[in-house]
Amino acid sequence: MSLKSSKSGSVVIVGGGFGGLTTALSLSSCKERPSIILIEPRPRFVFSPFLYELLSEELESWEVAPSYRSLLASRGVVLINGSVENVDLEKKLVITSSKEVIHYAQLVISTGSQIDDLGVDGVDNHALVFHKYEDVGIVKSLIKRLNMNEVANKNIVVVGGGPAGVELACKVADLLEEHCSVHLIELQDRVLKNGKSFNQEQIEQALRKRSVRLHLNSRVLSIAENCVEIQNVLEDDAEPYNLGFAGLIWTAGMKPSIPFGLPDSLVKGGRILINSKQQLISHEDVFSIGDIALDIDQLLPQTAQAAMQQGEHLANNLIAYRKDQELTPFQFIDRGEILSMGIGEATMTGMGLTLSGSLAFKLRRITYLSKFPNFALSIKSVGSWLLSYGRKSF
Ligand SMILES: Cc1cc2nc3c(=O)[nH]c(=O)nc-3n(C[C@H](O)[C@H](O)[C@H](O)COP(=O)(O)OP(=O)(O)OC[C@H]3O[C@@H](n4cnc5c(N)ncnc54)[C@H](O)[C@@H]3O)c2cc1C
Repeated sequence: MSLKSSKSGSVVIVGGGFGGLTTALSLSSCKERPSIILIEPRPRFVFSPFLYELLSEELESWEVAPSYRSLLASRGVVLINGSVENVDLEKKLVITSSKEVIHYAQLVISTGSQIDDLGVDGVDNHALVFHKYEDVGIVKSLIKRLNMNEVANKNIVVVGGGPAGVELACKVADLLEEHCSVHLIELQDRVLKNGKSFNQEQIEQALRKRSVRLHLNSRVLSIAENCVEIQNVLEDDAEPYNLGFAGLIWTAGMKPSIPFGLPDSLVKGGRILINSKQQLISHEDVFSIGDIALDIDQLLPQTAQAAMQQGEHLANNLIAYRKDQELTPFQFIDRGEILSMGIGEATMTGMGLTLSGSLAFKLRRITYLSKFPNFALSIKSVGSWLLSYGRKSF
């Protein structure tokens, strides 16, 4: 069937993270490849699950954060290095930070999430974060200064006992010398409150083994230059106490990065409302996936795993939409959870397996590298015979 003229223009993808890049690459492999424009401000794609390995130098930059130019070479995707400031759904265009106006036939919004300070005073000015490629170098130099006794205080504080916080606390503890301490602050009564129970137990053991000091049921009230004010939430009227630090890393909050211009009726809790076929509830030519999207009938985890599965599915739906064919609902397949636990160790629950230790660490690496957006790059890191195993597991 031939394309209706209104559907035959460019597919414009805003945000080249796990969801957007997977969509672009999957679309580019389709037989009837449309014109694809990817708009992304960062020069490098960041494979965030491996940021910890970049910190410990178990992996190198080219493996964890390849440039978009290398990933998209000869894929027929036009890359615009910029950020979308406004979306006009009626005129079917987006406007970038350099005031470039780009028209779309179909739009994909996959702008992910960003750090949320949760209203805590001092996060912006006194906390480090661990989200971008550049953050790794900052944390690395802090660890180096501590190990070389260049700072008086010997504490590193990690705020947030979710996956990012516990993985980071274990890795930092392994990198610090004995005279330094890692403190982990968590509001709930256990770390990884929503994690798989096997992983939760393994992580708790890993934190104990590394002498990470846990502050459970603890709320951060404010952060000053070298000091954090904490309150125990279990005791009524508990006196807040101060903990000094050489560096504090905030992993406690994330919020959606929504571009301007979307009407409030299309947004809930800062996320874009979509239907099961990944379309905005009132604009069938606009799609959204990843951390930013919300299908209230199928609540998905905000993970790379979910974003990549959505991206692959969306490429097929976009082709179907352009050909006036029926779109198919997205179904998430939970392939489990794998968490690193310091240098050379991990814990995994999924694929019918519960496993921890060095084998889990190797499987984690194989699994993730096999899902790397550019297959050719990942082949340099692991044997290709292992990749098919990993592909089925993420
Ligand atoms: C340290 C860390 C470790 C993690 N580990 C894991 C893990 O082990 N397993 C797992 O499944 N998940 C993990 N995650 C979560 C995972 O990274 C996210 O869930 C995933 O990146 C979501 O994909 P996304 O495409 O929605 O957003 P992202 O991958 O964040 O991509 C969004 C992209 O949009 C771009 N963008 C933002 N605003 C604009 C704009 N206005 N215009 C144009 N572009 C824009 C951003 O630059 C970014 O490249 C981790 C996250 C972090 C930070």
